[in-house]
Amino acid sequence: MCTTSNPVASPLHEEVEVLANKIADLLLPKTRGYYEIWLDEEKIADKSQEEDPLYQDRYMPRKFKIGIAIPPVNDVDILTNDLGLIAIVEGGKIIGYNICVGGGMSTTHGNPDHYARLASPLAYVENDEAKVLKAVYEVLTIQRDYGNRSDRKLARLKYTVDRLGLAWWREELERRSGFAMEDPKPFHFTSRRDDYGWAQNHHGLWYFTMFVENGRVLDIPELKMKEALLKIAESGKAAFRFTSSQNLIVADIKPEDKAFVENILESYGLVAHTLRATKLRGNAMACVALNTCALALAEAQRYMPSLLTKVEGILEKHGLQDEELIMRMTGCPNGCARPYAAEIGFVGTAYGRYNLHYGGDRLGLRLNKIYKESLDEAQILAELDSAFAAFKAERTEGETFGDFSYRKYIAAAATA
Ligand code: SF4
Repeated sequence: MCTTSNPVASPLHEEVEVLANKIADLLLPKTRGYYEIWLDEEKIADKSQEEDPLYQDRYMPRKFKIGIAIPPVNDVDILTNDLGLIAIVEGGKIIGYNICVGGGMSTTHGNPDHYARLASPLAYVENDEAKVLKAVYEVLTIQRDYGNRSDRKLARLKYTVDRLGLAWWREELERRSGFAMEDPKPFHFTSRRDDYGWAQNHHGLWYFTMFVENGRVLDIPELKMKEALLKIAESGKAAFRFTSSQNLIVADIKPEDKAFVENILESYGLVAHTLRATKLRGNAMACVALNTCALALAEAQRYMPSLLTKVEGILEKHGLQDEELIMRMTGCPNGCARPYAAEIGFVGTAYGRYNLHYGGDRLGLRLNKIYKESLDEAQILAELDSAFAAFKAERTEGETFGDFSYRKYIAAAATA
């Protein structure tokens, strides 16, 4: 379950945080039926027959991700979740939520039956807590009852949505929830990025959103990030919140403690480190991959920083260094860093080789597609050099790279 990165940024964020906690409580397994205790070869406690009211005797066919977003910021990549709630705000109040179903990133190389999908807006539910919780609950019961349990690769909600269709889902969800729902309402995102730097919320508390490259909190000779964060943690003057974009918010700092925390962040160079992140680097993400993940076919978080340095050089050569560009990399097709929802995605195929994806949009509303397969670094850089040159020369007014590359490389190829 994830909500927008800073859950107390405004009264609306706080309201959504309360809802998120209620959803988490509602969906928490109630049974303790997973345990047996044995002593001297005798079973002295057994709850294995206890049934859970939601999950019953089956649990879910696969993992299930839920997110809540508050437009205009899509910092949780809402449509990549199995179930996404998009707050609809009118007159400064949340009037309801669009319920979106069927997002999921993982794919398998060479298997078109196993694909990435963005969640589809299914229905709008007014901001009545009982109704919203009921709708969320029943999405899970539908997946519990209709999810594929014979093929693990086809067990995520996205396949249940495509197999049964949105019209069936809407009818079934209304039937199980016991109330009629409206069609999803229009919503508008303007950004997906974390807002780096200092901000003060409506309670007067301070927040520093810090750039953490690919989520790696490390001590290296030129930047002792781990040591600095440990000092802050030991002081008890701040909390830590992780963002969906692999960054960290040093949070909930009282005004009288701000100078103390700021002094540590400044003296360790973390403020400068955050402000120095280029637009490209500040938006980029990579999964853990080698040498941590047993499923990895290629490097990702250890390799991405050096690749970005080379790509930054190419962007600068074309005068595009100030472009907001979302670039993501994973070491295998399971998609943990959401590469299919990036403007430029790299998906590892073998050591040192990646599929290059183009055509995702800036805001997370359109997936990219494979443009070239299994490229090495020299081929990747040559492709990007040529694409950035074309982008510079042919882009329309205000066109993003994601939209341009979709138009030039993906839609054009589909038409041909
Ligand atoms: S995407 Fe990355 S972290 Fe996820 S399974 Fe593949 S290599 Fe591992």
